[in-house]
Amino acid sequence: MHMEFTALRGRHVTLVEVGPRDGLQNEQVSIATDDKVTFIDRLSAAGYPVIEVSAFVNPTRVPQMGDASELFARIARHPGTRYTALVPNLQGLERAAAAGLDEIAIFAASSELFSRANINQGIDDAFRTYAAVCDRALALGMRVRGYLSTAFGCPYEGDVPAVRVAELSARLLTMGVYQVAISDTIGVAHPGQVDRVLHTVGEQIGLDAVALHFHDTRGTALANVLTALQLGITTFDASAGGLGGCPYAPGASGNLATEDLLYLLDGLGIDTGVALARVVEASGFIASRIDHALPSRYVQAERARQQRG
Ligand code: MG
Repeated sequence: MHMEFTALRGRHVTLVEVGPRDGLQNEQVSIATDDKVTFIDRLSAAGYPVIEVSAFVNPTRVPQMGDASELFARIARHPGTRYTALVPNLQGLERAAAAGLDEIAIFAASSELFSRANINQGIDDAFRTYAAVCDRALALGMRVRGYLSTAFGCPYEGDVPAVRVAELSARLLTMGVYQVAISDTIGVAHPGQVDRVLHTVGEQIGLDAVALHFHDTRGTALANVLTALQLGITTFDASAGGLGGCPYAPGASGNLATEDLLYLLDGLGIDTGVALARVVEASGFIASRIDHALPSRYVQAERARQQRG
């Protein structure tokens, strides 16, 4: 085991910050646009390669994301950072293009019932919609990332077969996405399952275009990251402060906190280019605008240390 950890030292990992979108979308209180701009600008100062800013979804259905265009007009773009947003359909894509985006993300599901509940289309219909979005986005010169949600379990169907995750990942790549973010939407994954799913996916499409999006609902997110690192995964999503509760487990953690992930990666000697202290500053700002303490263990430990010091 000693050798395996040594082998990780010096490796580069790409962090995708999803706090402004996946985090704030799942917070109960609505955040003022001014505060979102400040939050995103502070995140940019941390040195992220990718920040997911918002979603060009129907504002009457998801009012928290209604200011997507305004955010893209107002944020200060850091030269080393790519700024992206979710796009559900062609209308959303046109709004994203008008806002000047050069990268978007689509969000498909690995389970039929979740797909219907989340986007009101079954898996095959959703893939038809996304194929059209991909074609148009690629024609506009955009990069497209694909999320595959409920890949480790569905709140309505329970177990999701790894072969289905592999098949749907392959379909997303065929549509032209550059990366598939295999996502544990309800936070049930554990290292043995991560190992199984990644081996099955790897046999079908390799792992170079695979990213992972873990939730810490059951406390297994960092163990899952370590497992995935050892299998060669180099891109992980995380949310500053652990923003975004778990809609399927009220009061529980949702997104893996960026600070907790960075503490692990920094400790292993893995390079991300993201400054942990700057992420803490950014999440500390937005903490004053939400109605609960940030779930990040690192943030809580830092606060306790400062209060004692
Ligand atoms: Mg998430």
